[in-house]
Amino acid sequence: MRIDGETRLVGIIGNPLDNTLSPTIHNAAFDYMGLNWCYVPLTVQAEHLREGIEGIKALRFTGVNVTMPFKTDVLDMLDDVAMFAETVGAVNTILVDKGRLIGYNTDGRGFYTALTRDVGYEVKGARVLIMGAGGAARSVTVSLALGGCASIVIVNRTVGHSEQLAGVIRQSTPDIDVDWLSPDDDYDILVAESDIIINATPLTSFNGSVLRIPVSMLNRNQVVCDLNYSSYQPPLLQEAEARGARVIDGKGMLLYQAAAAFEIWTGLEAPVEVMRVALLKALEEAHI
Ligand code: NAP
Repeated sequence: MRIDGETRLVGIIGNPLDNTLSPTIHNAAFDYMGLNWCYVPLTVQAEHLREGIEGIKALRFTGVNVTMPFKTDVLDMLDDVAMFAETVGAVNTILVDKGRLIGYNTDGRGFYTALTRDVGYEVKGARVLIMGAGGAARSVTVSLALGGCASIVIVNRTVGHSEQLAGVIRQSTPDIDVDWLSPDDDYDILVAESDIIINATPLTSFNGSVLRIPVSMLNRNQVVCDLNYSSYQPPLLQEAEARGARVIDGKGMLLYQAAAAFEIWTGLEAPVEVMRVALLKALEEAHI
């Protein structure tokens, strides 16, 4: 990698960033494309977030990714926010465009691309069941709703968060049938009859959790997704695959959200396969 006075800078703002894979993925893409660009981690304390965001303009960064815990906090620090990011209330990519800070959210697009490109799934008319109602669930459900799914049911530990998410989806896509259930409700039949089942919680095992997924109801007509990413297959996906379902983990979402950010900053088509190889290698090396 060449670093000189002409190097274009991008990076990631978050805290902590110890395990971030984004520098590896993006720098592999810049190397492959022969771009004199560099992607750096920028750990910021919460009380300095506004200065950090202002700093990317002052330091002539082309853009940054934003990650936990700042995806929502940055919203009111930007000059403009793309409609999808506004709807889900979270920004994961900022572009500095002629001195103006523009916020985007590429997480939803990342998931949608993984589902449609890697698994070849047709979202139109699908019945969706999602476990979790946090930031990832918001991006994923709004992208599925905009993609024309028929219905979305949310099951989450905190019922109030499910209600909030249902409201966000209804506001952006009033035609979608949206509902939520308490973890105590009986949703076994619903699991059997859903087309897409998504784990959007950090839980990799549901044993002993307030949330449960009755894995015996999973079947070959379904796509089962776990947004967690690691080099090991999560137990939910092992169970789903054993019952003939198609499965996707969070690696595709991570990859395609990075590819979308690359395209926003550079205006060039992202070298997705190069980025995928770099991601898999980094996961394996980090034993994540
Ligand atoms: P978040 O905003 O903090 O939301 C976490 C969600 O998980 C909430 O619905 C929360 O329920 C639920 N939850 C957390 N701990 C739980 C527990 N012990 N028992 C039951 N429910 C629990 O986080 P997020 O950003 O949505 O991330 C969720 C997962 O998606 C994480 O594992 C993250 O790594 C993954 N993710 C992956 C990608 C990717 O690119 N693959 C991108 C973003 C996130 P309450 O509402 O009750 O708190």
